[in-house]
Amino acid sequence: MTRLRIALVGAAGRMGQAVLGVAESEGVEVVARTDLGDKIALADADVLIDFSHPDASRSICDAAIKSKIPLVIGTTGHSTKQRDEIAAVAKQIAVVFASNFSVGVNALFALTEQAAKVLGGDFDLEIVETHHRMKKDAPSGTAKTLAEILQRACNTKKLRHGREGMIGERERSEIGIHSVRGGDVVGDHSVIFAGQGERVELTHRASNRETFARGALRAARWIIGKPAGLYDMRDVLGL
Ligand code: NAD
Repeated sequence: MTRLRIALVGAAGRMGQAVLGVAESEGVEVVARTDLGDKIALADADVLIDFSHPDASRSICDAAIKSKIPLVIGTTGHSTKQRDEIAAVAKQIAVVFASNFSVGVNALFALTEQAAKVLGGDFDLEIVETHHRMKKDAPSGTAKTLAEILQRACNTKKLRHGREGMIGERERSEIGIHSVRGGDVVGDHSVIFAGQGERVELTHRASNRETFARGALRAARWIIGKPAGLYDMRDVLGL
């Protein structure tokens, strides 16, 4: 089997460091690494992996298109415009864009969809995510994906980001999203289905970043040779 060669953006960050560590243990060659202030370098990489900041999105997309190499995007917090740009780029090259690369969280996505179909009509839906104090975007990309899954399954659109003051009774159709920040929490996500006399809670807790890094490298191996298109981790895992 030929050795996977990756270019990495955000190499100095927490996730960048985790990818470098897992790459070394899995025999993946890191042929280019860039961070804030650097020009995106690709060298002769098979795949470009991004764990940086949405501000880098445009130049990452331009670099990948210019060299026609597939892109694995793990960065979260993009604006609608940036997401549209990524979707446009995916018409020319293969892109895996995943708010969470862990296998466990992708199982949580599938379980949430199933539970929402059974319970969604009668139960109140709330999402709670907890992350370390340094996290820049809120709610997390994973919480947004969970909200999209609930919205699709229950045909409801209204999201309520936190609550404060005399806001009155909870509306049946809303989906609450709450972000807790503190310490060094790698990432916890809970979906709560609260009904009359009973409550179902689905929770995933990540205890290290290697799980995301391993998933990103799995996505990088999977995407080589795939036709242009916008894929997510469920495609990579065949779910
Ligand atoms: P971090 O702040 O530790 O690292 C980000 C790195 O990107 C830093 O080294 C920073 O200097 C660099 N950077 C910032 N702006 C840049 C730019 N314009 N160009 C190039 N480099 C730039 O953050 P982190 O905890 O490593 O997370 C990085 C991203 O990955 C975040 O968006 C986070 O939400 C996301 N994330 C995704 C997953 C997933 O599974 N998809 C998992 C964890 C984190």
